[in-house]
Amino acid sequence: MRIVTLVLVITALSPWLGLPVHKASVNTSPAQAVERGPVTADIDDSDLFLQKTIQAAGPPRDDSQRIEALLKRMTLEEKVGQMTQLAIGMIAKGRDQEIQIDPAKLDKAIVRYGVGSILNVAEQALTPDKWHDIIKQIQEAATKKTRLGIPVIYGIDSIHGANYVQGATLFPQEIGMAATWNPGLMKRGSEIAAMETRAAGIPWSFSPVLDIGRQPQWPRFYETFGEDPYLAKVMGAAFVRGLEGTDVGSQDHVAASLKHYMGYSLPLSGRDRTPAWIPENYLREYFLPTFAAAVKAGAHTVMVNSAEINGIPGHINHHILTDILRDELGFKGFVVSDWEDIKKLVTVWHVAANEKAATRMAVMAGIDMSMVPLDYSFADYLIALVKEGAVPQSRIDEAVRRILKVKFELGLFENPMPNAALKSKIGLPESRQASLQAARESMTLLKNTGDRLPLAKDRKILVTGPTADSLISLNNGWTYVWQGSEESLYPKDRPTIRRAIEAKAGAANVTYVPGTKITRRAGSPSNNTPTNMEEEVDIPAAVRAAGAADVIVLCLGEGSYTETPGNIPDLTLGEPQRKLAEAIETTGKPVVLVLVEGRPRIINRIADYASAVLMAYNPGNEGGQAVADVLFGDFNPCGKLPFTYPRFPNALMTYDHKAFETESFDNAGIRPQFEFGDGLSYTRFSYRDLRLNRKTIGASDQLSVSITVTNSGRRAGQEVVQLYVSDLVASLSPAGKRLKRFAKIYLEPEKSRTLTFKLRPDDLSFIGADNKPVVEPGEFEVMIAGLKARFELK
Ligand code: BGC
Repeated sequence: MRIVTLVLVITALSPWLGLPVHKASVNTSPAQAVERGPVTADIDDSDLFLQKTIQAAGPPRDDSQRIEALLKRMTLEEKVGQMTQLAIGMIAKGRDQEIQIDPAKLDKAIVRYGVGSILNVAEQALTPDKWHDIIKQIQEAATKKTRLGIPVIYGIDSIHGANYVQGATLFPQEIGMAATWNPGLMKRGSEIAAMETRAAGIPWSFSPVLDIGRQPQWPRFYETFGEDPYLAKVMGAAFVRGLEGTDVGSQDHVAASLKHYMGYSLPLSGRDRTPAWIPENYLREYFLPTFAAAVKAGAHTVMVNSAEINGIPGHINHHILTDILRDELGFKGFVVSDWEDIKKLVTVWHVAANEKAATRMAVMAGIDMSMVPLDYSFADYLIALVKEGAVPQSRIDEAVRRILKVKFELGLFENPMPNAALKSKIGLPESRQASLQAARESMTLLKNTGDRLPLAKDRKILVTGPTADSLISLNNGWTYVWQGSEESLYPKDRPTIRRAIEAKAGAANVTYVPGTKITRRAGSPSNNTPTNMEEEVDIPAAVRAAGAADVIVLCLGEGSYTETPGNIPDLTLGEPQRKLAEAIETTGKPVVLVLVEGRPRIINRIADYASAVLMAYNPGNEGGQAVADVLFGDFNPCGKLPFTYPRFPNALMTYDHKAFETESFDNAGIRPQFEFGDGLSYTRFSYRDLRLNRKTIGASDQLSVSITVTNSGRRAGQEVVQLYVSDLVASLSPAGKRLKRFAKIYLEPEKSRTLTFKLRPDDLSFIGADNKPVVEPGEFEVMIAGLKARFELK
């Protein structure tokens, strides 16, 4: 029987009703925060959440008359100007906090070239005041000094919060948000990111990343929601809704940019911006669904894959940029290129002999705005191309219409200037609390032999390892600077893992010995050497300190990186960390392994030895606190791994892999370290009564799947119920299983809930050899937590 109280219903609906997601009265001083009760809204059906999230897009606005009137008055040069995006350095001088608008450069960009968009920071995050000053000068030039007064759309990478605004709230990176399996929390996080980005005067964010993380070596793995298209689709739609709200023109929201459309994340080599081979049916099966859902959710812009698929660079792929995105998905916003990617058609991909030819190819494929971004070549070439008749005027009008439409919808014509009153919304205590909550819910307990965790607070603890005392590791790239690597820019009042442990257990009980460190290679990032270097500090000192400890918290993982500087030759942890772990093992003391990393680095022997393993991902500035909350049991962990954690560097496989012949005797080779969806709790959940409402369904029927979950342990906790479906026989070899629904629920001890999911025939479909979705009759199996039931589709 379903036990549903009014409280539960309201709680479940609260993300959709716009009620606060966090209902616990958590202390706003995270240093002492201890919460014990229910803390988030239940998401009791991922499908309902997704549908509501998409529908909340609101009715489309019609600005067509204003747009057409404006377009009629624009010269070719003004139109091409709108399609041009330049980096901030093109209008400014000085670096870092000394950056100043250069009036002559500003004049050239905005008045002479009529540039429609500016992006980025010069090296580092700016204060809200500085942003206001810069944006104000840009908009003054655009609206007062140009003939038509069209405002500029400023764009920035708010990847895990408004990370280029000083004092803003930083959240776990997307991989950690995925581990929460809580799209309500994702939406709340991106609402805060939007509010703080807009408060700085910036109306456009280059997020979310909707690439699917199925290649763990790829240095942007942590920017994804992991390997599963369904989980990523639900989280991605939530991200878009949080950024754009129901009215993107309101002062609390920004336009999203879905990136990097599409197939960017599966480089064969594992290195950033290198080729992928993805047949179209798999492109549609695995890489399109996130974008399709986010387009349905009303997202306003799309950014393009910088690399190539099947030999076709993303920026000239007409089929993907126009046939699929426009004609099939009905995308109405504009498409922006990625950084310098038209030039790279010549210099990297060699599909065009010169930049002028590349410009024509990209614009004709469907690029509406070029992130040029460091010169005026795009505008000059495009004007010439139109004059020569090589690019039709109609294509220019189409692109400019789309750009103007987004500017109108953002309210930029009415409110181009930053609003001073909004600055007070940056870094609010409740925003920080939401970030702490997200960090806590992301914590994924992967091993806990003999209930080693939670730790008692009166034990003697050795904290060691290169990620134990580092906010840089907790945040990773896109934090204050592109690579996240500037220690001096991090807030001084956020505890690292070490400090948060000291605060709980008392400094006298905690010894910290780093053992090794991760530093950055000086100089410019090269394509051949990873920029993070590992060094031993004093491993023997860590071993000596272990002698006096009851337990060792060993914090391993990575430094900070993104894009090419984050390339690594293999997933093995650096030698210094391995040496440290081996030395610690010789002490015989119990080890709790904490992983702070943006991709799964190989830990096989270390994890096998450790009594407990806690995956922290890159949880952001509140991550130290969140780790300590879980280690000491002040928060009951509920994160679930959003990817398959490999045991060996060459044993990469996703959970939805297909059966293979040698599986039965090759088991050791593919058995991963940890499975997708894994994650322990300090309580125990048991599952019973998996029931289908029928054994046979027709092509237009729904199937109800119900399951009863009981908290059979002794403390309250949250559980992620995961529903998988297997297609037992199909015309293309089927995936072993595919995630189709999930629910995140909260249960007090001894309480049960019965959940009912409804599957539709399209949940049983796959992309056939003709690249179209197909639902084939036959037998299917539903699986929830080891329970299975079969049904037949007639
Ligand atoms: C990245 C994008 C980012 C852009 C602007 C590019 O190098 O690939 O993800 O939005 O830079 O910073």
